[in-house]
Amino acid sequence: MIVNRKKYETGKARPTALGKPITVSKARLDSVLETAVDGIIVIDEQARVLSYNRACESLFGYSANEVLGENVKMIMPESYAREHDQYVANYVQGGTPKIIGIGREVRGRAKDGTEFPIELSVGVAQSFEGRQFIGIMRDLRPRKAAEERVQQLQTQLVHMARVSAIDEMGAALAHELNQPLTAVMLYLQAISKKSTADGSMDTTTTEILEKAVREAERAGQIIQRMRNFVEKQAPERRAVNVSVLIEEAIELVLLGRTARSIEIDRRFSDSVPMVEADPVQIQQIFVNLLRNAVQAIDSAEEKRLCIELYSADNLLHIDVGDSGPGIAPEIASELFNAFSTSKSGGLGLGLSISRSIAQSHGGDLTVNPGGNGCGAVFTVSLPVILDD
Ligand code: ADP
Repeated sequence: MIVNRKKYETGKARPTALGKPITVSKARLDSVLETAVDGIIVIDEQARVLSYNRACESLFGYSANEVLGENVKMIMPESYAREHDQYVANYVQGGTPKIIGIGREVRGRAKDGTEFPIELSVGVAQSFEGRQFIGIMRDLRPRKAAEERVQQLQTQLVHMARVSAIDEMGAALAHELNQPLTAVMLYLQAISKKSTADGSMDTTTTEILEKAVREAERAGQIIQRMRNFVEKQAPERRAVNVSVLIEEAIELVLLGRTARSIEIDRRFSDSVPMVEADPVQIQQIFVNLLRNAVQAIDSAEEKRLCIELYSADNLLHIDVGDSGPGIAPEIASELFNAFSTSKSGGLGLGLSISRSIAQSHGGDLTVNPGGNGCGAVFTVSLPVILDD
């Protein structure tokens, strides 16, 4: 059917894709196009842009004036643009549609050169001017960002599951090792007692034996401390001496490290005021801070930790500083938020948990981020028990 253009002016009967005329109000159509959230573009068989709505303007940064009448390739990256003319020509000459009626993810190119993913669905309509292709485009960047975030969270969850499995294995290992270690200690003590009683051993051998007993006892204490640390315990508040908790935390964190290469500067006053606290939770804060500090000085030339205790305004302050590089700027503002980490294997939970423990005790955890050759200094503040 040959369509006379004049016959189908605005508000009059127009052909549809099926060739049947309907009455369309141009004003209504324009308002649909202009208010649509998705970009809508219409091109002819030569790929010239016939219609380009407002959403397209914000998507690509080109105004309608710049695009109308031009080849649609101008909003495509080079790789797509090269094939597009050929693709339209093939289709017009009766080839098989590759995208029409299917829709797929493609890439668009904005005026400033930015390339971005788009979900594109294309329909074809038969008009009195020939075939026209209608493309509907949705910016996929927000969806992609959300997908990436979900993926990140998933990776973190998997990592967390692994960490908690390791914790369980650690607890089981501590339990399993305790028994043979106790047996070793008892055997050594038995030999020591017998030799003292009947004088069957010379002094050097007795001394060596005593040393072996002491080392086995120490190993037993370390295991006990590890078990206490990983075991779930009901929260309890009591008067605690923070300096004792810090010493134990140092021992836990330096387990298995060449501790001698790390210098620890303790600045504790003689009388450290007691605080009312849950010792397990408070120790968790120090383990977190000390572990971070030890990791921060790992590649530093000078490996030094400085722990200072002082009280002011009814609060006990504990500074944990290190000779590392300070807090990475990209993480500084988010430091205490969950999942903020600069470490490939990090969970980014230590500081957020530590701060909430300190705050739930009526105190706080703050940081001086350091940088420029200074390491970070974290300060834990806890209310002291006041004398009546
Ligand atoms: P994680 O150790 O799992 O990353 P944290 O919440 O304990 O989680 O620490 C968050 C981030 O804070 C670390 O990834 C690191 O970038 C930074 N950070 C913490 N302590 C220090 C420190 N002493 N020196 C430098 N950066 C630190």
